[in-house]
Formats: sequence, structure tokens, C-alpha cells
Amino acid sequence: MCAVSTLEGLLNKLATFYGALPTPPRDPFTLFVWEVLSVHSTPYKRDAALAALKRIRALTPDAMWRAPQKKLEQAVGLAGPYNEQRLRALRTGVDMFRRSPRLPEMGEGGAYRMLLFAADHPVLPVDARVSRVARRLGFGDQQGSFTKTARSVREAIAKQLRGSPDAYRHAFLYLAHHGGATCTEGDPHCAVCPLLENCPEGKKRQHV
Ligand code: SF4
Repeated sequence: MCAVSTLEGLLNKLATFYGALPTPPRDPFTLFVWEVLSVHSTPYKRDAALAALKRIRALTPDAMWRAPQKKLEQAVGLAGPYNEQRLRALRTGVDMFRRSPRLPEMGEGGAYRMLLFAADHPVLPVDARVSRVARRLGFGDQQGSFTKTARSVREAIAKQLRGSPDAYRHAFLYLAHHGGATCTEGDPHCAVCPLLENCPEGKKRQHV
């Protein structure tokens, strides 16, 4: 019997196609900051902003709370536009982490990412990108709500993955990256996708 599941085979193809992807930080608060800086940014700009926050020693909830506003704005501004929105999100996060440092209350997606990357739980965070790619590949179905759809994706993928946190991290990183880079919402680039021969949705689109 083949030891590699269908999904693992697809993930291996994505890993070959995209190469190594940056792994999110393991410290919960740094992970939160990394995610805030990643939105509408590039890996280069995000990493520059994170390095600047590290230089001004603002990478704990208390330190960020005490950090001089001007320095904070300059560091966060290196991530690109939407500085005000980012600062607001960071302020909200600082409050949450100061109330509950280990695992603050956050939305379902954020909580799953926190569990997987910072607490080593083998769970799959399902955001819009992961949900889209997984369902196009035949893992899970569209349901009446995003939460139910996410559950269906999670269950379909759990049947294919070995139960280690590393396997789940690998799956999340590559499915999410693929959803942002190639398997986009409105115009997936199926003709160049390395998964085309295994993808029901891609084949359907090629024959339209
Ligand atoms: S073939 Fe198209 S629909 Fe399927 S995973 Fe690739 S980009 Fe997405």
C-alpha cells in the first residue's frame, strides 16, 4: 500500500512548485504580530517591520503597550500601507494578550492558527484560501455557513493527513499560499497549476 496519501502527494507537488515557505513564529504574541503585519504586505516588508519591532524590544504585550508611539508607528509602517489599521489591530491584540497571555480569545481562524503554530495541536486552520483550494481539489463541500464548510474541509483533510502538528502546519502553509498565489477566487491559474491533473475543478474549467 502507498504510504503517501493523495493529499500528501498534492502537498509535495506544491512544495516543489513554490519551494520553502516562511514558517510563522512559535511564540504566540509574535505570531499574532506576524499575522497583523502580513495582511496587505509582502514577506520582505513584513519581515522588515518585525525586525524593527524586535530592535525596539516591542515584541511582548507589555513591551508593546509601553513602547513610544512614534517608534511603534515607524516600525509597523515598514510593512506598507494600512498603518492605522495595523496599529489598531495591534492595540486590540495587546489588550487581549495582557488579559490572557497563554491563549487569548480570538476569532475561530486565529484560534486554530494559534493552536497549531504556537501550541503544537494537530488542527487545520481553515480560512477562505484553504477552504477554496481544498474544496476545488475535492476535500470538503460548500455548506450553509462558513463554519460548517470549514468543518467539512477539516474532516476531509484529517482523513488524509498523518496526525502530527508538522503535517498540519505543512498542509496549512501550502494550501493557504496556493490559494493566494495561484488558485485565486475569481481567476485561478489552472493552466500553470502543478495540481491540474488531480483537480476536478481545474479540469472542468479547462473544458469550458
Ligand atoms: S487546477 Fe485550478 S482550481 Fe485546481 S487547484 Fe489548481 S488553480 Fe486551483
